[in-house]
Amino acid sequence: MRRTRYISRARHSADAETLAKLARRLAESGSRIEDRLWERRLAELINDRLTRGFADAIEAALDDLARTNARAYDDLADLAESSAESATIDIDGKPHDALLLAIPVLAWSRYKLPTTTLSSTLVDNVAVQITGHLAARGTRLAVADYLYSIDQLPESLGEVHDAAHVLFEAAAQGKRMKVDPKSLREPVSMLADTRYLLAALIAPQGQALYHWQETGVDPDAKQGAITTFCEQTGNALQPLMTGCRYRVLAPNAFHAALRDADRQLREFSVEAAVSYLKLAYDLKPGELQATVAAFEDKRVEEARIGISKASDDDAVIEGVVWPLLGDDEDKAQEEIEAALRTQGITRITTHAQRFPLEYCDDCGAPMFPNPAGHAVHAEPPEEADEQPTAPLH
Ligand SMILES: [Zn+2]
Repeated sequence: MRRTRYISRARHSADAETLAKLARRLAESGSRIEDRLWERRLAELINDRLTRGFADAIEAALDDLARTNARAYDDLADLAESSAESATIDIDGKPHDALLLAIPVLAWSRYKLPTTTLSSTLVDNVAVQITGHLAARGTRLAVADYLYSIDQLPESLGEVHDAAHVLFEAAAQGKRMKVDPKSLREPVSMLADTRYLLAALIAPQGQALYHWQETGVDPDAKQGAITTFCEQTGNALQPLMTGCRYRVLAPNAFHAALRDADRQLREFSVEAAVSYLKLAYDLKPGELQATVAAFEDKRVEEARIGISKASDDDAVIEGVVWPLLGDDEDKAQEEIEAALRTQGITRITTHAQRFPLEYCDDCGAPMFPNPAGHAVHAEPPEEADEQPTAPLH
């Protein structure tokens, strides 16, 4: 037993080293011809490891490159993500390109945001929107029958690969893909968050996947198609989104869609917090102030925004986490201030000091900066005198 594990770990690290080595050479390459060769060798190795369930070697190579070679890291991450979310599959003896799509939905609510099984009517309705507005002629399609929270989506490269292949199989065979809700994690509850639909799109190899890629179609038809798709999919989701304000974002390949949604969620969360305080407590943006500070530990770096009453420099009544997502702090600072001003909050305090990445021991909620320079627990504004001052858990 121990021997097997030892061997597999040794092979594992040899794999990771080979992957990192090839990625470094790819990053140094100065021509498309050389690129293609390294890419092919990397793709073969990555696909093999993903298929055999050894995605850990890829993650280990990425960890190594993240510390040592940013460009090689990007190259390997691109290839690994692409291999996890797409595949060449055989249908009736002919090769096909298959892609895992994610359709993000930004949503906020005073109540719990939904994560739920979709009725077969709703699955069909989403499929009709994809066929009508996105998919090229001759493509095959399957939609997973679940509205996921981000915590419930496949996370590691291996999980994405496995989830993608289940959907590819359903699309290839024209079957429905049933998600077992019991297999999913319990989502973390947030005022504003993303929800996702997943789908697979399959085209005969080398042919158009999206209809705006078809010969004779204006490539700019994409913008109009996406807008209509988002509107109509939004209407289709209405029955699930009672009590929510929400917006369907442009669908894309799994990893690209998640990145875009993470980015857009930041400003949406500021908008949600300000709208919520108006709706629930009748506090207008002019009666509020915001405090911005950087929070960090060894791995994570994020800005947190504490929202307080303009008259109170201690209590934070609502907070927003603004992950940096690779942006530098100055750029983030500008964007945060712009987002706050757009929502009508003009009184903004920025602390230069950095705060440790702290969460509440009881409920796990992030701590937010107050104007006085402390990180505190956000507490709803007191509506009556008998309201307790300690946070409710
Ligand atoms: Zn707490």
